[in-house]
Amino acid sequence: MKEYEIVMGLEVHVELATNSKLFCSCSAKFGADANEHVCPACAGMPGMLPIANKRAVELGIAASIVTNSEITPVISFDKKNYFYPDLSCGYQITQLYAPICRNGRVEIETSKGKKDITLKQIHIEEDAGKLVHSHGVSLVDYNRCSVPLVEIVSNPDFRSAEEVLAYLEKLRALLSFAGVSDCKMQEGSMRCDVNLSVREKGTTAFGVRTEMKNMNSFSAIERAIEYEAQRHIDALETGCEELVQETRRWDDNAGKSFSMRNKENATDYRYFPDCDIMPIVVTDEWIEKVRATLPESAHDKYARMTGELSISEVDAKIITKSKRLCDIFDALMAHGLPVKDVVTWIVTELLSLDIGENKSYDDIEIDCDKLASLISMTNKKVINRTVAKKILALVYTDNVDPETYVKENNLGMVSDTGAIEAIIAQLIAENPNSVKEYKEGNAKVFTFFVGKTMKQTAGKADPTVVREILARMLDEA
Ligand code: ZN
Ligand code: MN
Repeated sequence: MKEYEIVMGLEVHVELATNSKLFCSCSAKFGADANEHVCPACAGMPGMLPIANKRAVELGIAASIVTNSEITPVISFDKKNYFYPDLSCGYQITQLYAPICRNGRVEIETSKGKKDITLKQIHIEEDAGKLVHSHGVSLVDYNRCSVPLVEIVSNPDFRSAEEVLAYLEKLRALLSFAGVSDCKMQEGSMRCDVNLSVREKGTTAFGVRTEMKNMNSFSAIERAIEYEAQRHIDALETGCEELVQETRRWDDNAGKSFSMRNKENATDYRYFPDCDIMPIVVTDEWIEKVRATLPESAHDKYARMTGELSISEVDAKIITKSKRLCDIFDALMAHGLPVKDVVTWIVTELLSLDIGENKSYDDIEIDCDKLASLISMTNKKVINRTVAKKILALVYTDNVDPETYVKENNLGMVSDTGAIEAIIAQLIAENPNSVKEYKEGNAKVFTFFVGKTMKQTAGKADPTVVREILARMLDEA
């Protein structure tokens, strides 16, 4: 069999983190009841006039900056015509002739080293609504109509699924830290279409390309690429199937892609300038203003953590992978807690919380003031670590207040050494055989006694104190 190479280009749609929609003042928030956020403009009523959202353009500029792109001095919007029930105007407002930027570059790192992925362009456009199919009917929800997006179009630079995933991770980090988008694949605020073709290794001409849609997670993207590449190779090798340029829908449950429609060419969309929207001049001053207000990037945070804060590279990598974890880190640091404790609590305790299936660290929602008070109570030995872990889970699930909870449930650490001594004295009297084994050098017996003592104090004793007293009393026994 011949050796084949996979060639891929990506189109990534990312919803912009604006409060309102792209051309009207309706809320752009996710999760409302159907058709709650709709007005005549975003419903495409005749005579409606779109007014561009300045914040959306600024987030477009921010996306251009973090992807090292060349920003277009004068941008404009165009109409892309097609019919679909969730597109009430019969056209989508997007950018073809003067997009927000071109010629970007994103550096990725895979097991094979570093590589630059080049971008053709990024354009700002509006989202379409959503069809809900149930009980044999199809319903339209226009909430998402005209929610602002950027579409990031790469050149066909990808050669493996690993490169694709590394790029998406990188994009997510760049855009979420810059505040451009929350980039949540599960909620559809980050969506990725994969254009894929295969060719014999060593050749330069492109093969027939298909576009795959509807992958809802990184792992689904990986499976889709593996399946589709194999389908192309099989078609070329056996001739049993003719490859055609088309759009295909990935079905993750079936583990297969299915033909959706023949791929349209740009001419089919009959693009033309939207003369209702004035061109927008993007001045250097405006770009610099946006640049100056960009929050610290993941890269800079990592450098600060491993540099002046002396956090290990492993821990810094874990925390800077998620915008949310970094926000929690900064909030805890602002409470004046020691760096070492903040890192341990995030990396070992917070990340072992049961956050539920299909959730990422970015979904962790926790009251940082309460988390800080929990950590400082542990540091001040008001409660021990075991109790603190249990309360952490409750802060996360029920938003309990640690101080009140400890008081109400009498969970304060038993530090009365007299009480601990009394418990140990009784245990020694009740377990003469174990004491004998300990004296004969069986170290496991010590752990047995620690466990028993902790149990007698309902887990509230300071384990360090217990160990100290126990060692002394066992030797004396
Ligand atoms: Zn509206
Ligand atoms: Mn698009």
